[in-house]
Order: sequence, then C-alpha cells, then structure tokens
Amino acid sequence: MESYRVGDIEIIPVTDGEAPPVDPDWPFPDVPASRWQDHGYALDEHGQHRSNFGSMVLRTPNATVLVDTGLGPHAPARFGTPPAELPRSLARAGIAPDEITDVFLTHLHYDHIGWALTEDGNAPFFPRARYLASKTDWDFWKDCDDPDRTEHVASFNSRFAPLLSHGVLELIDGESRVTNAVHTLPTPGHTPGHLSLLLESDGVRGVVTGDVFHSAAQFAEPEWSHRADVDPAAARDTRKLLLERLIPGMVIASGHLLHGSNIGTVAIVNGRKYWQGFDG
Ligand SMILES: [Zn+2]
Repeated sequence: MESYRVGDIEIIPVTDGEAPPVDPDWPFPDVPASRWQDHGYALDEHGQHRSNFGSMVLRTPNATVLVDTGLGPHAPARFGTPPAELPRSLARAGIAPDEITDVFLTHLHYDHIGWALTEDGNAPFFPRARYLASKTDWDFWKDCDDPDRTEHVASFNSRFAPLLSHGVLELIDGESRVTNAVHTLPTPGHTPGHLSLLLESDGVRGVVTGDVFHSAAQFAEPEWSHRADVDPAAARDTRKLLLERLIPGMVIASGHLLHGSNIGTVAIVNGRKYWQGFDG
C-alpha cells in the first residue's frame, strides 16, 4: 500500500476514480494554449487535462481522518456513469468505513461530498465518524441561488445537508483543531470557506491543499484559475500565500492530481516552484 509519513501521521491516498480527460481550456478558460507548452508535464500524452477524485486518509495514533469523499454514486449527467471507486479504494488500502473517526471536507463541491451519505442517502456512509465542514461554505450553499451553480446546490441539498439531522455534522471556521497534529488553514477563493489542513508531528510539517490546486502547472503558475473557483482573485492570492509556505521537501497532498502522483513536494528551478510528485 502506498503511504507517506509526516512524523507520526501516515497519509494514504485513495481515489473515487477520474473524470473524463478534457482539453485544458475547459478547466482553465483564461489560459491560452501556447502557455501550456512549458507545462506539458501537467497534461497527459494527448495534451489533455486529467482530474482525479482524490481523497486522503490521515492516520494518527488516535484518529483516522478521511479528507474529502469524492464524486460519489450520484454524479451530474455529464460525467456519465460515475466511477464510484472510493469504497473499493479504501478496501484495497485495508480501511473499513467504520474505522474512519473523522470525515473532513475541504469544501462542499459535489465532487468532494459524494460519499458523505450511503448510496440510498439514508445514513452517513462512515457510520462512526464525526463530519467536519466549513460553516462559511455551508451558509454559502444553503443560500445559493446562482443559476450557474445549480448542480452543486442540488448535490449539497441531497447528498450533504441531511448529515445535520443525523447529528454527526460539526461546522467549523477559521483555524480549528481536527486532531492534536492536524489543524485547518483557511484558504478561501475556490469557495468562500475553503479549508486546507496543516499537519505537524515530530517537528515535520505537511499540507493537504484541497482545491487550491487543480493542476500540477499551478504550482509554477499560481495566477491560473480553475473555472470552478468562486472568487478567482481570492483563489490566486491564496495560491500565492500558500506557495510561500510550501518549502522543498515538505509533504504536500493535492487530491485532484493523478492518483499515484498526488503526494509530493515542491522543487525550485531557476527561482520558480514546480510540483514534484513522489512517483519519481
Ligand atoms: Zn472544488
């Protein structure tokens, strides 16, 4: 099993599958095709952008935290039949749903809340877990009537909001403690309440970045905004601020990068930071 360590914390990447490959100007409509020439490493062999529905399991001595829950079994129609691999991916890693003590949502987009509930929607999928999410994001989606975001609102209402009535949801904000070694770091822009996680154990630090990054290219090009960024200017500022904190060697977990290379670090080449996956 693939896993990485930050002191006492083990990071195990799991996946709910991948989105169909797309031309990079779909996720990054403001980036001209010519700008991708320097960042071919971030595209596949056909020049397509690929996006993984990646989650992370953080095992600490006292907790097993699942960060994000994938696209799930009920995706918007344009995804076709959703891959819905997360339960199998967890099983392959030897992790049963009832071992998860905490489910942490970096934000409440439909491709992160997919397995919050069971397939029939009647119960939490992780039966013993406390669920943690941003109150700012909760309020945003609860009141959202933006016609461009109806798919997210529908998923929020049917696949996430019922957690409240099950009494397992805790809404948090700012810098909050998840475990002794895991704290939230507000990283707004992609959504108003987007939260990353800072890991610190035995003097070693790591970061789970959620959707601050959607492409390996954004580590070198933090100005590039993904089409799903709710506030692109704030998302850019957040990427730049977070990049300042990312030092070479630090373990970084970035869910949407490809499974098998979405844990890595930054390397500095000619004064510029680049993503370096630990796949070699
Ligand atoms: Zn998102």
